[in-house]
Amino acid sequence: MNVSLERIAAIKSREDARFAATHAKSLAALERARESMPHGVPMSWMTDLYGHPPMFVAAADGIQFTDIDGNHYRDFSLGITAAFCGHNPAPVVAAATRQLANGSVLQLPTNDCIWVAEELRRRYRQPKWQFTLTASQANSELLLLARLATSRKKVLVFKGKYHGHVAPLLALEDGGGSVPEYRGIQSDEVKHTVVVPFNDLAAVEQALSLGDIALILTEPAMTNLGLIIPSAGFHEGLQSLAKQYDAILAIDETQTQACSYGGLSRLWGLASDALVVGKSMAGGVPIAAYGMNERLSAEIERPSHMEYSSGTAVDHPALGGTMFANAVSMAACRANLAEVMTEAAYERAISLATRLATGFQATIDGLRLPWSVCQIGTRVWCCFSANLPTNSDEVLKADIPALRELQRMYLANRGIWDFGTWAGPIVGLPAVEHDIDAYLVAWADLMSEVSG
Ligand code: PMP
Repeated sequence: MNVSLERIAAIKSREDARFAATHAKSLAALERARESMPHGVPMSWMTDLYGHPPMFVAAADGIQFTDIDGNHYRDFSLGITAAFCGHNPAPVVAAATRQLANGSVLQLPTNDCIWVAEELRRRYRQPKWQFTLTASQANSELLLLARLATSRKKVLVFKGKYHGHVAPLLALEDGGGSVPEYRGIQSDEVKHTVVVPFNDLAAVEQALSLGDIALILTEPAMTNLGLIIPSAGFHEGLQSLAKQYDAILAIDETQTQACSYGGLSRLWGLASDALVVGKSMAGGVPIAAYGMNERLSAEIERPSHMEYSSGTAVDHPALGGTMFANAVSMAACRANLAEVMTEAAYERAISLATRLATGFQATIDGLRLPWSVCQIGTRVWCCFSANLPTNSDEVLKADIPALRELQRMYLANRGIWDFGTWAGPIVGLPAVEHDIDAYLVAWADLMSEVSG
């Protein structure tokens, strides 16, 4: 049995009407907001990504939130994992509030920085750490350091990746070369970027063999276009190729740190020269960080006799930002790592994610849908193909965009927020069984409607 596009379209128009009828205040807010913001939203993505009018949020608690029309949602998108610890973890609220009353942007370190760096060292097994506010900035600084350390320019990334809004990382492969992925990125900005398929060591080796790759940047499992699990030996292959061709290997755990305690690098025993974390690590307060080996940190620690002085060239890498490592982010991060993002909390959430994955499988088996279910720790994804994809082309081939669109709207109308870009729901740390079951009931109803 498979799904019918006509049936999907018919259900979608019914669900759109239902959404409009129950979101009058959000729709009115959007109209007003259009005067002061393009599309009526503070970030254009909010419409680009969701493909429907956003709900305006009134309040959030745990993994739940309420919109200004009074509709309640269980959140399975959780700020694209940034709110994986819940929307208001109590230790984070207390620590951030306390620190805000004691100074925020001091441009001087607090003791919390030491605690956090030591904890990151222990948890993610990289010796030296630096802080930013977003993972885009962390990746951007890492690229700069890799270029300095190797005296090379090129960066290698994988097809279907997203590592943030960093011009050289916003490239698409185009028959042997790289082209800009977004309007406004110049072809010059991506001319040192190489994009190859995930799980393809031969393509990686071919690129590396030219001897000009400074940095290989990869997620441990791809999470921005479906969930793509690395093939057996892929990461070990990357490690040895990076070593052989003297490139820096960096693992971007910005999203996957929410899959498993210490990220997938810890779970799978992956070695790398650098590792990026962000999003959820301060329980919703902005922060990101990158850990690095001594080869990279030497580029920062190099003895320099030059003083900063505007208008002249200086011998320091261009790193840092006014708000980076601010005392509130650090206090929140310390509280979150110590009291919220604990190993026991992950274990609980992973067992709930297994309940979700098992429920997906039971529904597709019951309806004889030829699909597959992927679970990586707290994250679950139902792929509309019989076998799990191994690269982004296979993900795109398996996709049914109209069904994903309908799923978002159908679930939202039943109090489940899973905006369903690609990688499926994430089970947040405060989730309980009842949240999972509510998702599964709504999802099973949708799938029997589309296939029945
Ligand atoms: N790396 C990965 C793997 C991501 O998924 C993202 C964002 N989704 C980023 C980096 C960028 O994070 P930020 O938006 O915090 O800059």
